[in-house]
Amino acid sequence: VSSRTDSEFDLIARIRARAGMRDDVSLGIGDDAAVVRLPAGHDLVVSTDTLNVGVHFPAETAPLDIGWKALAVSLSDLAAMGANPAWCTLNLTMPSADRDWLDAFLDGFLAVAKAHGVALVGGDTTRGPLSVTVTAHGFLPRDAALRRSGAQSGDDVWISGTLGDAAGALRQWRDGSTVDAVLRVRLDRPVPRVALGIALRGIANACIDVSDGLLADLRHVLDESRVGAELEPAWLPTSLELAKAFDEATRIQLQLAGGDDYELCFTAPPAHAPAVMKAAKQSGAALTRIGRIEAGQGLRLRDPDGVVSAAPRIGYRHFDASREARDPA
Ligand code: ADP
Ligand code: MG
Repeated sequence: VSSRTDSEFDLIARIRARAGMRDDVSLGIGDDAAVVRLPAGHDLVVSTDTLNVGVHFPAETAPLDIGWKALAVSLSDLAAMGANPAWCTLNLTMPSADRDWLDAFLDGFLAVAKAHGVALVGGDTTRGPLSVTVTAHGFLPRDAALRRSGAQSGDDVWISGTLGDAAGALRQWRDGSTVDAVLRVRLDRPVPRVALGIALRGIANACIDVSDGLLADLRHVLDESRVGAELEPAWLPTSLELAKAFDEATRIQLQLAGGDDYELCFTAPPAHAPAVMKAAKQSGAALTRIGRIEAGQGLRLRDPDGVVSAAPRIGYRHFDASREARDPA
């Protein structure tokens, strides 16, 4: 904890000095509300997320990583809708007005903002246990949103990047073993798949970002779309680091149940496969087909011998007493 403390207004002034600008921001930080301009023919897309100390990150997490992740996870939600991110607000609750903590937090937060051309246009600053709420705003051509409810029987199920890396880092950290540097970056500094989401407009039938675990998040798509799916765990895209760190059974378990990857899971008709590959190329995201949507409800796993079984009910739930806490305490 720093010895230097400031008033709420000093902190807001520090934020304002670094917030970034866009031509479509008529009024940013400093007035009673922000004013932004939507492009003609577009809908506003809004998503908000809260990170609480001791629940979403341990108390000793570096402020830069908290700032990075707070914005990255909100932009991931916009990415999963296919939206262009544009603006954000930041509600910051902190135990004391710690300028050094705030500066480091902003280093992470604004690095993500800059990378995606997002302006910080407002927020609120209060005292209390550390909590960060970010609301991200973006836009989409009218009715172009990638919804959870659009999956169709016969669609391929696709996933971006690699799965299980963040969960692998968390597992190593909980086990008290050395955390692999590559896996740790996946946990602490997720990169929202913004370009991919935009490239998938008109191509994907349904889309979701993997925050709570592949099975849990894909189930949301299946429930909303009233369809089922069969996945091939052997096809899951795996980083070299994850493969090296765990035996196969543990690794697959991390990939199916572990959250925090912020990859996009989407479905598209097989006829769209060439367009999907083009979207991969455009956005620089590797894409892997991991299964198929089926008419019958439920989520099934097919092992390499062709044996099909019901997928286990695993994933992160905040209000589930049996869950493993993310926090060590
Ligand atoms: P009000 O009483 O109108 O809520 P505040 O003093 O809370 O005013 O905020 C003053 C200005 O600073 C507002 O424009 C607000 O959006 C902005 N602001 C406050 N806290 C933050 C923050 N954490 N991040 C970005 N902008 C902030
Ligand atoms: Mg206020």
